[in-house]
Amino acid sequence: MTRTILLNPGPVTLSPRVRAALAGPDLCHREPEFAELQAALRRKLLAVYGLDNSLWASALLTGSGTAAVEAMITSCVPRDGQLLVVENGVYGERMSRIAEAYGMAPEKLQSGWGAPIDLEALSASLQRRSFSHVAVVHHETTTGRLNDMAAIAAVCERFDCSLLLDGVSSFGAEAIDFETWPIAACAATANKCLHGVPGTAFVIINQARLPVIAPPRSVYFSLSDYLAKQDAGGTPFTQSVQTFYALDEALDEFFESGGWQERRALFRTRMQRIRSHLLELGVEPLLSEDDTSCVLHAFELPDGQTYAALHDALKEQGFVIYAGQGALSERVFRISAMGDIQETDIDRLLHSVTKAIRH
Ligand SMILES: *Cc1c(COP(=O)(O)O)cnc(C)c1O
Repeated sequence: MTRTILLNPGPVTLSPRVRAALAGPDLCHREPEFAELQAALRRKLLAVYGLDNSLWASALLTGSGTAAVEAMITSCVPRDGQLLVVENGVYGERMSRIAEAYGMAPEKLQSGWGAPIDLEALSASLQRRSFSHVAVVHHETTTGRLNDMAAIAAVCERFDCSLLLDGVSSFGAEAIDFETWPIAACAATANKCLHGVPGTAFVIINQARLPVIAPPRSVYFSLSDYLAKQDAGGTPFTQSVQTFYALDEALDEFFESGGWQERRALFRTRMQRIRSHLLELGVEPLLSEDDTSCVLHAFELPDGQTYAALHDALKEQGFVIYAGQGALSERVFRISAMGDIQETDIDRLLHSVTKAIRH
């Protein structure tokens, strides 16, 4: 098999161990071996940020990251709650779309794509009207911006609002302060910073902040149902058993390699190499380094360079990069540093980029 290096923001290049884990034994999701696997995964996910299992619980779902976000939005805001969604990219906008699809009538606080979240406007919104929950994306993968969660959390805390955090592209590699930020829930997925395969997503839930919503807004995405069943060793629906095996192995590798701080350092080193090489070639990053996550950076396409030509030239060399979304699709390309990538892969990438960029 020729090795493809995925530089898109998930799914990621798998390690040999994670790939091998996918071929684990056939297993029925109603058997005790499955209950053990699921319980181990739930424990390990809390351990990523050292969370106390008397306060926090993880719910494991079969679906992509959006499934976890949808479960979080629809399960955590009580019927008499009020939701404010903070948007500065595709994924913030998606949270609003989810809330709207369920008739939750969210209010939206919009900043431009790539712009920082306006803290004064956030304070003003929370002052003007009482909100129970603020939904926000930690790392807005649209642009690579790492939103200033400490500052946003402080504003929410001041107005006694709970946070619904889309941590899909940050969980496992960026700092998430579960103790200080008023987090009700954080949604994430197996196949980004944790290096598992797509198919398993999860929500880390602050048990004291999970309301009882009867009847639930959604049958498939009811987190209280997941928690009740999973705490009892079961699962409401069939789980993707093989991706559980893969996530279990990925989490073992994650802890063996030093946890989220080490992963952040690793991604940062990779991104810095790519970023400074591109700068030398005259390719400008979209955002300053301080504003950007360790996970993904967006770069301006040079004049006369189409995304398609760049993508195709790199793909021929075994590297898959990622296009911009929406209005940014003509302007930027994105490179992510997640996955089981070696330094020699980055060496080859930089060489291929030099050849592919038009001068
Ligand atoms: C990847 C991602 C998602 C989920 O996307 P899926 O395609 O459903 O996995 C949600 N939010 C953010 C910030 C993401 O990067």
